[in-house]
Amino acid sequence: MSSSSTPAPEVRQDFIREIVTADNASGRHGGRVATRFPPEPNGYLHIGHAKSICLNFGIARDFGGTCNLRFDDTNPVTEDVEYVESIQADVRWLGFDWDDRLYYASDYFERLYACAEDLIRAGKAYVDSSDPEEIRQSRGTLTEPGRESPDRGRSVDENLDLFRRMRAGEFPDGAHVLRAKIDMASPNMNLRDPILYRIRRAHHHRTGDAWCIYPMYDYAHPLSDGFEGITHSICTLEFEDHRPLYDWLVASLPLAARPQQIEFARLNLTYTVMSKRKLLQLVTEGHVSGWDDPRMPTISGLRRRGYTPEAIRRFADEIGVAKRENVIDVGLLEFFVREDLNRRAPRAMAVLRPLKVVLENYPDDLVEEMDVVNNPEDPSAGTRKVPFSKVLYIEQDDFQLDPPKKFFRLAPGREVRLRNAYLITCREAVLDASGAVVELRCTYDPATRGGDAPDGRKVKATLHWVSAAHAVSAEVRLYDRLFNVEEPVTDDGTFLTQLNPSSLDVLPACHVEPSLASVEAGSRFQFERLGYFAVDPDSRPGHPVFNRTVGLKDTWAKIARGAQA
Ligand code: ATP
Ligand code: MG
Repeated sequence: MSSSSTPAPEVRQDFIREIVTADNASGRHGGRVATRFPPEPNGYLHIGHAKSICLNFGIARDFGGTCNLRFDDTNPVTEDVEYVESIQADVRWLGFDWDDRLYYASDYFERLYACAEDLIRAGKAYVDSSDPEEIRQSRGTLTEPGRESPDRGRSVDENLDLFRRMRAGEFPDGAHVLRAKIDMASPNMNLRDPILYRIRRAHHHRTGDAWCIYPMYDYAHPLSDGFEGITHSICTLEFEDHRPLYDWLVASLPLAARPQQIEFARLNLTYTVMSKRKLLQLVTEGHVSGWDDPRMPTISGLRRRGYTPEAIRRFADEIGVAKRENVIDVGLLEFFVREDLNRRAPRAMAVLRPLKVVLENYPDDLVEEMDVVNNPEDPSAGTRKVPFSKVLYIEQDDFQLDPPKKFFRLAPGREVRLRNAYLITCREAVLDASGAVVELRCTYDPATRGGDAPDGRKVKATLHWVSAAHAVSAEVRLYDRLFNVEEPVTDDGTFLTQLNPSSLDVLPACHVEPSLASVEAGSRFQFERLGYFAVDPDSRPGHPVFNRTVGLKDTWAKIARGAQA
């Protein structure tokens, strides 16, 4: 065992890493650690996949091994190159690299076929010509054994001949299947002569029309692992019952490696559906704007929303690896996003629902450049100048005409601080015919530049603002949970009725400080007092569009503290 295969002491332990450590100690795989991330290219990756990516690439990194990216593209009907490309982009964005180890199960079609002939020659597979309904019924139930097919006794020669003619396209779809010959009485349904190949005339996104028979996932997967010399084939719990078949295939064929399958619990999040099929339905039926809609739990959606790869990796590490199904509070993911952005996002001022403020005693033509710290968490981020002038915007909800007891922000006669600027006092609210407040007439105290009064008098609120003459108009998109129940019911139909009808709130007429006039898509900011925001690709020069990534309030820490108390 090489020293590089011993994890560093600070590396987090989990039951899978314990298995890998024990295997290295016993020499089970000759000290090698080779994992793979095997997506089927039939949709965009989601946060659950991110968990699997962090686990597989993370184990390879921690043990000095390798992790392959393999497209499990054995089902031509649902797969597409669009997905192949997005998956690669997403894995890279998450910060992982497969070097030159990019594989496709479809590249193994010839070898998979050869192995199937080997199984036939060994008497371990046969062609079954029963109709599909008969095959289904003869599998038996959990309490009753299955019935053997009349074709089970076919000779090796007959099987080989039929299988070759299946490949040659002599039979219509569904006429025959190739089945493993294992045990129709096995208590494990997966061992009741599972289907290995079926005839399916479908165009494949990589092999075109070269094949009219396609291998089943349960057959292609262990063999692909074997071809690639995978040592630890990590998958989710629903494959636990398939492991005996995985082991049977690995033991039945002369593969280069003897991979072992290890199952862990898939990641589930509250207020989230996480199946590609359901996410596809949300996209195709127009419930969201696309796979990268910022409300989607897809990697591309989270990226557009403003989540960072660092936050997602941290989340994946912190939740650990479970052996039993569980549901994680989506607030925990948001907590790590907020933590990360707090450290790195520059601050800026933006007013989402503007209310005009006129400083009556401020000189008409004066513009002062206020020095503002870019990020109090990061002194290296420096400072910037923000213009201040006679006419400003503040948030509508920072003013109340008739404030209730606990409202400390602006009201008639009250003094507050404008952040990094001056103390101002509201003298009068101008109302329109309907009684709505349309403008505030205020005065400022020139002795309070920077925000503090020389006489030490205190104010109870600090407001953010932008100078009207300098402001850049912007669109801001606020998001709420896509579903309004904690655990959306996942049977079809129902989950659509649980969509949150107000998950998107578009504010078309916001004002942001001039430093945000030309920001790059993907850059992220903390808007003072409002939350974290990311620049959307829909932005145009001079008219940025921002997505709210996450609010400032740390609800998770509150929940966690409450749980401890
Ligand atoms: P879905 O159920 O969302 O359609 P899938 O399992 O069909 O996902 P694959 O493309 O087969 O999608 O998944 C690739 C890898 O990611 C598999 O190893 C799978 O086990 C893992 N994976 C998928 N969903 C999750 C999840 N929610 N949590 C952890 N790992 C997951
Ligand atoms: Mg799958």
